[in-house]
Parts: sequence; structure tokens; C-alpha cells
Amino acid sequence: MTGRTAGAVSALALLGLASWDAPAGSRGPAEVDAARLTAADREPGQWMSYGRTYSEQRYSPLTQVNAGNASKLGLAWSFELATNRGVEVTPVVVDGVMYVTSSWSLVYALDARTGKRLWTYDPEVPRETGFYACCDVVNRGVAVWQGKVYVATLDGRLVALDARTGKPVWTVRTTPEKSPYTITMAPRIVRGKVMIGNSGSEYGVRGYVSAYDAQTGKLAWRFYTVPGDPSKGFENKAMEMAAKTWKGEWWKAGGGGSPWDAMSYDPETNLLYFGTGNGAPWNEKVRSAGEGDNLFLSSIVAVNADTGEYAWHYQTTPGDSWDFDSTQSLVLADLPIGGRPRKVLMQAAKNGFFYVLDRTNGQLISAEPFVKVTWAKGVDKATGRPIEIGDPRYKTGPAIVEPSSFGGHNWHPMSFSPKTGLAYVPAQEVPGVYGTDDRYAYDPSQWNTGTDTKLNALPSDPKQRAAMRNAFRGYLEAIDPLTGKIAWKVEHKGPWNGGTLATAGDLVFQGTADGRFNAYEAKTGKLVWSTPTYAATLAGPMTYSLDGEQYVAVGAGFGSVYFLVAGFALDKPGNADNGKILVYKLGGRQVLPKPQLVKAEFPKPPPVHASAATIAAGQASYQKYCLVCHGYGAISGGVLPDLRKSPVVAQADAFKDVVIGGVRKEAGMVSFASVLKPADADAVRAYLLTEAQAGWKAEHAKTSPAARKGPKPG
Ligand code: CA
Repeated sequence: MTGRTAGAVSALALLGLASWDAPAGSRGPAEVDAARLTAADREPGQWMSYGRTYSEQRYSPLTQVNAGNASKLGLAWSFELATNRGVEVTPVVVDGVMYVTSSWSLVYALDARTGKRLWTYDPEVPRETGFYACCDVVNRGVAVWQGKVYVATLDGRLVALDARTGKPVWTVRTTPEKSPYTITMAPRIVRGKVMIGNSGSEYGVRGYVSAYDAQTGKLAWRFYTVPGDPSKGFENKAMEMAAKTWKGEWWKAGGGGSPWDAMSYDPETNLLYFGTGNGAPWNEKVRSAGEGDNLFLSSIVAVNADTGEYAWHYQTTPGDSWDFDSTQSLVLADLPIGGRPRKVLMQAAKNGFFYVLDRTNGQLISAEPFVKVTWAKGVDKATGRPIEIGDPRYKTGPAIVEPSSFGGHNWHPMSFSPKTGLAYVPAQEVPGVYGTDDRYAYDPSQWNTGTDTKLNALPSDPKQRAAMRNAFRGYLEAIDPLTGKIAWKVEHKGPWNGGTLATAGDLVFQGTADGRFNAYEAKTGKLVWSTPTYAATLAGPMTYSLDGEQYVAVGAGFGSVYFLVAGFALDKPGNADNGKILVYKLGGRQVLPKPQLVKAEFPKPPPVHASAATIAAGQASYQKYCLVCHGYGAISGGVLPDLRKSPVVAQADAFKDVVIGGVRKEAGMVSFASVLKPADADAVRAYLLTEAQAGWKAEHAKTSPAARKGPKPG
């Protein structure tokens, strides 16, 4: 034992932290390196990276918890995250310590046996950053490497923390200062380099992946996903090639293509794979004069992990016009295709096709629909291009398209079991209406889609609302990548359900949006265990083993984009309870207290004094500027305040103080003075009051003495 290690061990003992999985003193916390991570299967009790291994299969070799005994699972411990915003983290567990992130990019180190908090790191993200986070102020997790814990913050910093103390060792700004970039993804670490992408294409950014030296934070390489202004020259040959697929002056709105979530790595080829997002703006007609493939939007890209040099790309959606990010899980496996073993990469893409590619060269092996797909009838095997049908690009007028921007599959991680040969996908069907905004002009301070946002207004007729809600569907699907066929499928109450975990114990774990955590038999989909979590359980579950006991962990918490925008489609009333990390084991006896959800009073709204034209104009502004956070029909999903019940909306001056004056900036509600004049704010308020009136009447009808009259009990 070296002196340095001995000193560290005694310091840890003082902190009450002398409990690694490894023999005492042999290893400090988060001592993960290339050898350990590449040989992760030799240490099945650990979960050392976001998707457990570089292949991101989210498959655990652990078998103690299995299809025969999963019914005996119970809560071992839980940890309260001090947030009522979304929880999307996959915990990392190394040598007895669990590292989790929460909203606003907070990091916690917990004793993996007990849930006892060891340290907290709060990067103090300015709350107005929340305005630029399209999809809630979430974070999906950390990376660990040689005694450090790495987190990317919502406002674009990459921070290396000392794993013993949670204190920053180095911090770099990985996005430009005062820019609309955000970051929600977990970093990955390959050969001593921390890989990180970014988000923000709706606000007009130029996406890129950066690699930093894990020890020093020095930038090693950066790969842009879309070309910049050609007059300034290209960074590399790949950008020169990509620029030939664009028209007009796309760079003025950034281009987009932010690589905001999925990454995986193949040590044999030394290729890093990442997925890229939609264009800025969504609509190709206004982004690139409706022409060109717009590389590398909505693509899977492979680069050399040491240099960032382009290797290959496969574009799932050429000339994307629907927000079909190709950022979903990129899962690597070796599969027997046509009688010979192939090194493949799999993705259940947002656009509704399940792709199997040769990961050495990006060649398409197969692409089959896994949900209802109306925009393309298939993918041409020879060219690798989708075969579009009808007018999905809404050139002749508005079009209903499936999947929509919610995706057939979104960020919720999928898993793959080499034992069953099946991929387990949180799939969904949510239609969307697209049409061109003919008056569109890029505004860097606002949400940019180039589409007519009025088309997605919630209908006022309750029957039409119910029909819209019924069209939103969610599933757990087991997909055979050899055939593209669905082996089995479970339907949930609605879309936006949790990521999946597959285990050698013949189990698949998944949480649901309506607050349960379930285990299914991996071959058949038979439900073998289900427990209430009392919160949307959307994150990727994981499993680990300590002292001979297997644990299964998952994050739960209301929030995430669906709970911001789709309150009308949810059963859940009331406020969002704090998020939690929930950890289960066989015979676990803890009881999760049922939270008391407080339903906000629905005060009688003031009357609306505005013309129908003003209300319609207010609704149009609401759809354009407010909906993405405050929801369809201003109906809250329980995360942000329900504007229909808001005392601020009830008073015209108070409303303008917030919307124009920006007095609630510290809470994330910034001023909209750059796009709304006081009269526009009055119109938005008039629209909100009409929604409030309708909501109050519906509520009042339910609780009025006449409605309460019914058959007497007994
Ligand atoms: Ca997107």
C-alpha cells in the first residue's frame, strides 16, 4: 500500500466511508480505467458507465434476482432528490458507492448498501438556463474515471469532481458563454478522454462532440455535426462533404444536429459512435430551401476516438423536417446475420424504424418499423434511404405524421439481452400535425421550428380532447434484431414510459409514466413483479451486487418534457412530489410512503373581456412561446404552476410584470419582452382566462351539489 492510499483510507474512515467492495485500501473510489471498463463482464457486480459497458447493452450478467423469485423483491432503501423536476439518471455504482445526478445537474455520492449520502455537488446552474432546456432541466448521469466523477451541467460546463469529496478538480466551459446551448447527457470516457455533446437545436445552435483529457480538462478534439459558414473555411473534409448537402444560409440559424444523448464505443475498431439531433429549425423548407440531405442531421456518426476523425455516417432521416433526432440508444452486439457473425450497431430511432447497421462501416443491414409509421413505407436496402409516401414534408399543406417529435422511441434507454437475442424498447405512438410557418424568421431568443405551432393547439371540445389523448399510446416491445419482428409487446396506460434493463436472470425491468416499476419475463413479457413508485419512473434502471446481494435501482420523479407539455393526457392531479432513487433487493422490507399530493385550489377565474380575435391571437402566441413549458391548453402536468389556477394570470398587471418585466427570472420564467408587446401579453392572458373558465366549469360541474348527488350508500 502506498503512503498516499493509506492516508486516503484513514481520511475516508473518518468520514465513515470505509466500505468499498474491494479489499480495504486496495482501491480508492471511482478507480475505473480502460482495463476495468473493457473487461466489465469480469466484474458483473459493478455498473461503471452509463450503459454499464462500452456496448451500452444495459444487460447485466447477474442472476440472483431472476424470473423465479422476482416476486420477492422489496425496497432496500430510497434516497430523496431535493427536486420536483424530471429524474432521468442512470446511477453508476463502483466499489460500493453510487453516483447519481438530479435536475439542475446536482451530483450525489451515496453508500450503495444503505443510500446514506456521502457528498453532494451543486454546480449552481443559473435558473434562467431552464428557458433554453427544451425538455426540462434534467440530467442523465455521470462518468467515472481514475478517482474522478464527471458531470456536464445544464449551462454547458464539464466538471471533474474528486470522487472522495465531490469537490471540483477542474471545470471547463464546453459551450460558448451566454449561448442557448444546454447539456443533459451523461459523459462517456474512452482511453482517458471525456466525450461530451450538447443540446439546443431549437434555439439555433451548431452541434458538436468534444473530447477532453480526463486528467487536465484540456480539449483534445472537437467534431462538428453540421457545417458552418463556408466562407470561413471548413474544419475538416467531413464538413466540406456535408456542406454540399445544404442550401441557402443555414449557418445563420446554427444548423442544429446537436448530439444530445446516445454514445457507444467499440474498443476493437476504436470508433466512437454518437447520434445527432434535428435541424435548426425543424422544417427543411425554411432551413435549407427544402433541399438536400443536410448532413449530419438525424444521423449515426462514427469517429476515431483518439482524434475525432470522421469514419462513417448513416443518416436515418435525410433532410429531417419532423424533429426526428437520431439520438436514441446506440447498442453494440455481435449477431449472426445471414449465417455469419456481424459486428452490429442497433437503434430504435425516433422516426419509427429499428436499424441494424454494420458498425465497422455504417452499412445498413436492416431497418423495420417498430411502431405505426405514416411518413415512409420502408427503407430501401440498396440506398439506405427511407421511401417517403404522401406529402409528409407538408409541402402542399398541413400533414398528420406518425411518429411525431415525441418519437417512436425517445431518450429512455433500450436494452439488449444476448441471452434472448431481443432488444427491449420503450416504444410509443404519438401523432403530430406539421405545417409550414410562412412568416417564419429565425429568432435566437426563442424556440424555432419553422412550423405552424397553431396546428397543435388542444381542441376545446372535450370529446376531441379525449380522442387526442386516446391516440397517445405507449408500449414495452421486445424486438428481434435478426428479423425486425416484435417478439412480444406490453401496452401501458400511455406513452413516455421508462428505459429498460435486461438481466441474465431472464428479466426485463421497466418503470412507467403512471408510477410503477415492473419486471417482466424476458422471453415472454409475462409480468412477474410490479410495485408502486408514486412518481413517473422514466429513467434507465440498473443493477449491481454487493456482499453477495443483488440490488436493482431506478430513478423516479415527475417532470421531463411529457409532464411539462401533456398535462391534459395525464390522470395525475396535484403537485409533483420530490424525485427519488429507489433501490430494491430480494426480501427488501422498506416501505415507500405514499406522498400526499396536494391538488391546487381552482379559484373562480375573472371574466374575459376580449374579442374572439384577441383570444385567438393570444392562443397563437401561447402555442409559439409558452406551450413547450406550460403545456397544451395551459393544463399543467404537475411540474410547473397550473396557469389556469394562477393568481398571477388573474391580475393583468401582475401577469405583465412576469411576462414582460421578467420578475420571475430567478425561478426560470424569463421576460418575453423581445417578442411580446404589452398588448400581446394581454391577449395571451385573455386566452389563458378562457382555458381557466372552461377548466373551472368542468371542475365545478364535478363537485357541485347536483353532481355529488348519487345513490345513497347502503
Ligand atoms: Ca430534437
